[in-house]
Amino acid sequence: MHDNDITGIIEADKAHVWHHLTQHKAFETSDPRIIVEGKGIHVWDATGKKFLDAVSGGVWTVNVGYGRESIANVVRDQLIKLPYFAGAAGTIPGAQFAEKLIEKMPGMTRVYYNNSGSEANEKAFKMVRQIAHKRYGGKKHKILFRERDYHGTTIGTLSACGQPQRAEQYGPFAPGFVEVPHCLEYRAQWDLSGEAYGKRAADAIEEVILREGPETVGALCLEPVTAGGGVITPPPGYWERVQEICKKYDILLHIDEVVCGLGRTGTWFGYQNYGIKPDMVTMAKGVASGYAAIACLVTTEEVFNMFKDDAADPMSYFRDISTFGGCTAGPAAAMENMRIIEDENLLGNTLAMGERLMLRLEELKEKHAVVGDVRGKGLFCGAELVADRATKEPVAEALAQKVVAECGAQGVMIGVTNRSLPGFNNTLCLSPALIATPDDIDQIADSIDVALTRVFG
Ligand code: PLP
Repeated sequence: MHDNDITGIIEADKAHVWHHLTQHKAFETSDPRIIVEGKGIHVWDATGKKFLDAVSGGVWTVNVGYGRESIANVVRDQLIKLPYFAGAAGTIPGAQFAEKLIEKMPGMTRVYYNNSGSEANEKAFKMVRQIAHKRYGGKKHKILFRERDYHGTTIGTLSACGQPQRAEQYGPFAPGFVEVPHCLEYRAQWDLSGEAYGKRAADAIEEVILREGPETVGALCLEPVTAGGGVITPPPGYWERVQEICKKYDILLHIDEVVCGLGRTGTWFGYQNYGIKPDMVTMAKGVASGYAAIACLVTTEEVFNMFKDDAADPMSYFRDISTFGGCTAGPAAAMENMRIIEDENLLGNTLAMGERLMLRLEELKEKHAVVGDVRGKGLFCGAELVADRATKEPVAEALAQKVVAECGAQGVMIGVTNRSLPGFNNTLCLSPALIATPDDIDQIADSIDVALTRVFG
């Protein structure tokens, strides 16, 4: 058993840990990075090297930053009092956080607790399927998802995956999931721009609905800003039309806020930037900023009532449970996380720092021909790298990875969308903690500037 001897810890890691998203052949001969400590926006690895973490824990999660003693204290006290109770019984933090969360989501009323974003999305899909059975004789069961969007790693959520490289080799998938076109104007599918493009991209969803038959379509599941698919902000006019279409055909609108939820885009939820009224919202990463595992599926009272109002039918309620949905650490941490976001005005900071980051990215686009497009909302920004601005040919994945490594060498961790399989490109992803300062933003942009010069000249 290795204690704090770091050489031994690295040996144990290499010998026994199967890392996420890792091809272990190359990993065997590399030096794994063990992160040992974090404070604010910074982390330190086992060699003592300090990094500005511009990816909030690797995958857009640690919204309030590291080292939050108040979250640790709240969780510690709650664990001693009552760590867990599941099933139909409630807990104090479960009830309190649900009430607080609903205050931030006008129009929504019910919170269903889960452990991960994938699980929350699965539960939403199950609700859609059950509603189809209860109300429509099983017919209105299809779930539409969008090209480039991602909703999770389980077979159910991979059935709704708009990123082919994630789903490849894991089929066969669940039936009844249908893809609709993406809305990325930079890689336009129609010869239009601005609002006309946004409306056309939404109309493409209607075309799929009409092709499938509206009476078969139960829900449309979309990310408010597509995350891993390339940091795609919707064109103007898009969401208004999407909402109209859902209303017209009585289709539930499910917004996947697993990345955008809890402040990432400068509003509590990404959908609130666009005046959308969803029927179901799922969230995970920022809910407790990674201090505890918690995910929520939030619905309107109308959706909730569909599982309540026919009590005479023994199969009518939502026959689902999540063992660790009964952990109290999650909602306790989430409540303190929300208090921090409010008390420190992190939504305001996110808007201001996001604006600064976008300006800096625009400057990089002016300076480096390899930056084809920059996109972002709040502290969730991307810069798409292209080998040729005219053809928009993506740069080789290895080169994008080199940019990430060059930033790492300067002590700044950034991310990149994975795998340039057909249709996918290399977009640098930036999502620092919502506490970022102007100096942090400048350090991130400066490091990318240097990295782009080193890699592309
Ligand atoms: N939805 C979106 C938009 C995501 O980006 C992710 C994960 O990155 C998920 C769902 C799945 O969440 P989890 O990894 O917690 O299962």
